[in-house]
Amino acid sequence: MDFYGHIIDGQEVPSLDGATMDDIDPFTREPWASVACGGKADADRAIAAARKSFDEGPWKSMGFEKRQAILHRLADLMDEHSDELAMADTRDMGKPITQAHHDVARSSWNFRFFADHARMTPAEALPMDSGHHAYTRFEPAGVFVAISPWNFPLMLGTWKIAPALAWGNTVVWKPAEDTPVSATIVGRLALEAGMPPGVLNVVHGYGPNSAGSALTESADVDRITFTGESGTGKIIAGVAARNLVPVSLELGGKGANIVFDDAEMDNAVHWAVQAIFRNAGQICLSGSRLYLQSGIYDRFLDKFKAAAEAMVAGDPKQPGTEFPLALASEEHFLKVKSYLDGLELDGGKILTGGVGEGWSVKPTIIVDAPRTSRVCREEIFGPVCSVIKFDTEQEAVFEANNTRYGLNAMVFTENLSRAHRVAGQLKAGSVWVNCFFIRDLRAPFGGVGESGVGREGGNFSREFCTEPKAVIMQIDPA
Ligand code: NAD
Repeated sequence: MDFYGHIIDGQEVPSLDGATMDDIDPFTREPWASVACGGKADADRAIAAARKSFDEGPWKSMGFEKRQAILHRLADLMDEHSDELAMADTRDMGKPITQAHHDVARSSWNFRFFADHARMTPAEALPMDSGHHAYTRFEPAGVFVAISPWNFPLMLGTWKIAPALAWGNTVVWKPAEDTPVSATIVGRLALEAGMPPGVLNVVHGYGPNSAGSALTESADVDRITFTGESGTGKIIAGVAARNLVPVSLELGGKGANIVFDDAEMDNAVHWAVQAIFRNAGQICLSGSRLYLQSGIYDRFLDKFKAAAEAMVAGDPKQPGTEFPLALASEEHFLKVKSYLDGLELDGGKILTGGVGEGWSVKPTIIVDAPRTSRVCREEIFGPVCSVIKFDTEQEAVFEANNTRYGLNAMVFTENLSRAHRVAGQLKAGSVWVNCFFIRDLRAPFGGVGESGVGREGGNFSREFCTEPKAVIMQIDPA
């Protein structure tokens, strides 16, 4: 089995105590790689390297143009290593390889976009009536801790570290323990691209009482950017508050997908399937609550069921596989499975799907579950869709907003006024109209309620990644 180490201060290293963890392929249910398993000592070593590199190193002082060139070179190298990176995420979490290739392209774009954005973004200048002139400098904030989840290992990790690096910060990245390999590969490629030692460090390990908590608890950290469960986000927010460290939290969701009677049916069915069955539903943005207006309920459900059953399910390593016959880990499989036990359905019925071979759950559609049931309220984070009938627009908006989450929502309608009206009323960080999963990295991304704190993307990332400083100069003596 290949070994993947931490990347600390320009070197790939084992843990100080030699600890390793087996990396399990959830489709074969066998270990496929061995990975360094870090603890507090490794986390401290990585923070010290990032601190030293930020305070003394050339990264923040080399300027936007040179950083942009290195980040572009890294993006090029990632594209050249697309097969290796995609296979790493596929073997780590069972993501279909074709989707994993898409993630690699999006991940290299993260570096290109933020490198260009940082370089091209103008700062404000404010001529003052008093004969002074004020302007804003966006200075790097310092040492970033970036903690990412397992569902988009490469894409979400790079989404967090790319803007931080582009704005001149140094980073310690801890990927999820179930999906560590692509992070080490990116760390190796960053060094090959010419990134100075200590600028991008990668530490592997678990979260609580391990590398994750040691990183967030460090007093030598200037920003924490976290994507993961809402419960973990609350713990990290508490730790950050004690150290007065700004945090960005991208957390869980229970996305509402509202389809009105006048929707273009085939388009809405296509996106409803993508919204809940892509990546086996292991997407924070998934449309796990599907609200269908009564006039189309039966016809839509027939088509939705047929499309779910027609998905090509199989080995995630095969290019033709649309739906993987494995959830990310045994622990996660057991969690998703527990929602399909009769009691949790609370009267709801499984129209199609259910538990499959190994650690897999088939594309599953649940009907007639009460709105108060756990399947309708909680984030299952699997290929399980609760379908709910509604009559009026007002009812749909009320039900969609009746959740502690607020990450995203979808609206399908051909009525332009309704599309804008409903988009405005939905309690969510993002609303897709007649589509799903389309992103513009200039746009804000984040959630409300228990789906997160803060926004990233474009200028929103600049606000988080920098310490804006006002400089006021006298132009004309009074
Ligand atoms: P998780 O919270 O269990 O773990 C996420 C990361 O946090 C991992 O790297 C883990 O090791 C680390 N961690 C766990 N406890 C920690 C602690 N006490 N201190 C420091 N680090 C700790 O989440 P997960 O199961 O990996 O990911 C699934 C969750 O992520 C879902 O809830 C999903 O909705 C959410 N998610 C949100 C977004 C978004 O953009 N809002 C995107 C993807 C996933």
